[in-house]
Amino acid sequence: MKIENNRVVSFEYTLTNSDGEFLESSEGSQPMEYLHGTGSIIPGLERALEGRVVGDTFKVSIPAADAYGEHEDELVDEIDRADFPEGTEIEVGMQFEAEVDEGVAVVTITDIDGDRITIDGNHELAGEDLTFDVKILSIREATAEELEHGHSHGGEGCGHDHDHDGDHDHDHG
Ligand SMILES: [Zn+2]
Repeated sequence: MKIENNRVVSFEYTLTNSDGEFLESSEGSQPMEYLHGTGSIIPGLERALEGRVVGDTFKVSIPAADAYGEHEDELVDEIDRADFPEGTEIEVGMQFEAEVDEGVAVVTITDIDGDRITIDGNHELAGEDLTFDVKILSIREATAEELEHGHSHGGEGCGHDHDHDGDHDHDHG
């Protein structure tokens, strides 16, 4: 069986940036599991997985545009220290949720200059060319329920809160 749409794929990976620096790995945690063809993983990686079989190992370099996107300057903003709730400890690297035009986004504090706080709403890997070392562990047909939901249900600790009472407007938390 090879990887194609409507199949659930499990794989191990190690992620490095264009300088070869280690970013993250599935080793020591759960392998990545996803439903192929749903855009639930970054586009460049999903394309590279297409047609692979169990046991395949490969390395793929993915430009930022096909990974977490280019770094967008419009998502960088300066706000005033007074905009934070009183007593908030503010430090570079701190992340919090902020309301943006599209809803709620995770923003990161990237610079502090007196009372001027620079926040960045880009994904922390935006603008990074990424390299994945991948090993395919398993491939199976998705269940009817997975197809209906548009994601895999097999992985433990996937974090989704499922309401399986039969209606379609369940909440995925
Ligand atoms: Zn679901």
